Amino acid sequence: MKQLRNNIKTFLLIFLSLFVLFTGGVILQSQRARTTLFASSGENRAALAQRYSQAGSIYSSDGVTLASSDEDGKRSYSSDPQLAEAALHVVGDYTHNITYTVESLWQNELLGEGRSLSEQFLLDIQGKGFQGNDLKLSLRSDLMKTAYELLGGRKGAAVVINYKTGAVLASVSSPSVHPDQVVAWKDIPDTSLFNRAFLGEYLPGSTFKIITASALLQSNLSTKEIVTCLGSTPIIPGGVNETHANAGHGNVSLVEAMAQSCNHYFGYIGLELGDQRISRAAEQMAFNEKIEFDRFSLSKSQCLIGREDDAALTWAAIGQAAGEDIITVSPLHLAMISGMIANSGRMTETYLMESIIYPSGNESIFDNRGDLVAQIDPGLAQNLKDLMRQVVNSGTGTNAQVSGLDVCGKTGTAEAYNKEGELVISSLFTGFSNNQDYPFAVAVVLDDSTYGSSVIAGQLLAAAAYD
Ligand SMILES: [Zn+2]
Repeated sequence: MKQLRNNIKTFLLIFLSLFVLFTGGVILQSQRARTTLFASSGENRAALAQRYSQAGSIYSSDGVTLASSDEDGKRSYSSDPQLAEAALHVVGDYTHNITYTVESLWQNELLGEGRSLSEQFLLDIQGKGFQGNDLKLSLRSDLMKTAYELLGGRKGAAVVINYKTGAVLASVSSPSVHPDQVVAWKDIPDTSLFNRAFLGEYLPGSTFKIITASALLQSNLSTKEIVTCLGSTPIIPGGVNETHANAGHGNVSLVEAMAQSCNHYFGYIGLELGDQRISRAAEQMAFNEKIEFDRFSLSKSQCLIGREDDAALTWAAIGQAAGEDIITVSPLHLAMISGMIANSGRMTETYLMESIIYPSGNESIFDNRGDLVAQIDPGLAQNLKDLMRQVVNSGTGTNAQVSGLDVCGKTGTAEAYNKEGELVISSLFTGFSNNQDYPFAVAVVLDDSTYGSSVIAGQLLAAAAYD
C-alpha cells in the first residue's frame, strides 16, 4: 500500500514538473508574441533594436559572420568594414532602411518565429527559446570583397554565379556605405542603398547581340551572309552606325560581326529578322518575366520593341532601344543569360540561402534547388558559346582573358540620357568560364564609364577559380 502511494507521488511529481515546464513554455511563447506585436506596431529604431537583440547570425558560405547580435543585444555587421559595405545590399540592416534584404525578408527565421510548438518547447526547456536561427548564405566573402574592390567606388554592379547549381557567389552594388551608417541614418551617399545588381534596369547595349544572334541562329536566314560595314555612315537614315570604328569592319559574317561587335551587321540582321523573332529570342532567355528566388525578386528585364520604325529596329537589334521601344536588363539576369549558354541551354534558378541553423545546432539545408527558369536548345547554346569565345579570344573582349580558363563573353556599351538630359555611357560585360571545375558566370556593369567592365569580369572569374 505504502509502495503504491509512493508510486503515485512520484508520478504526480513528474506530471507536475512537466505541467510547470509546459505552462512556462506557453507563457514564454505568448510573451514572445506580445513583444513581436509590440515591436511591429511601431517600427521605431529602439523597438527594432530590441527585437533583433537575440536574432540569429548571418554567415557567408565560407563561414564568415556578416551579421550577428552580441550578448548585450547589440546587432553588428561584418568586422571587416570592406566586407560589410560589399554585403550591404544583400544582408541589409536591422532597421530595414533598405527594403529587400536578408535582414528584412528573412526576419521571421532570424528572430526564431514560426517554429512548431514542440520544437519551441524543446528549445524553451533548454533555455534557448528566445534565440533566433542563423542563416548561411551562398555568398563567398572573398569574392564579395574582390568584386567591391574592383568596382573601386565607381557606380555599378558585379555578379558572379555558379551556373550549374544556381548559387549566387557574389553580388555587389556600388557605391555602398557601412551598415552602421544606414542604421544611424547619416552620411549616406546618393544611390548607395540601391541594389543595382538585382534592381538596376540597364540598357544592355551590345550584350544584347547575344539575343539577336540567337534569333538569327533559330531563323531560316543564313549565318554565312556577308554584310559590308559602312563605318560611321548610318545603315539606313537614322539607323545604326559605328561610333568606335569610323572606317568600318569591312565585309563581315556572323562570327566576325560578333567578335568585333559590328553594329552594321546586327542592324542589318535586325531588319531581316523583324522585331517578333528578336522578342521571341529574348523571351526564351527570360526577358519580360519576373525572376524571383528566396523571397527576392529582380527588376523585370524588358524587351518591348517594334513600336517604332525600321531605323529604331536597327537600334533595338544592337540593344540600344530608342523612342517607344524598351530594352532593359538587370545585372543578375545578365549573368544568368551567360550561365544559360554555358550550361547547355539551361537557365537554373539562382539562390542565396544555403541553410538555416537552429539554436539546437541542427542545420537544415534548403532544398528544391536547380529549377529551370528557361531553356534553349543545347545546340543553339553551343553555337552562341562558340561566338562568345571568339569575342574574348580575338575580339572586343580580350581584356576578360584568364590564363588557364576558357572564357567566353560579350562586351557592351550603352548610351542613354538621364533625367537631367545628359548623355550617360555605361560599360557592360557578361561571360563565363567554360570549365567543368569552374562553372562561373559573371556580369559587370559600370554606370558611367566607356570601358572597364571586361577587365573586372576577367579578374572576377580568375578570383572565383583560383583564390
Ligand atoms: Zn561594323
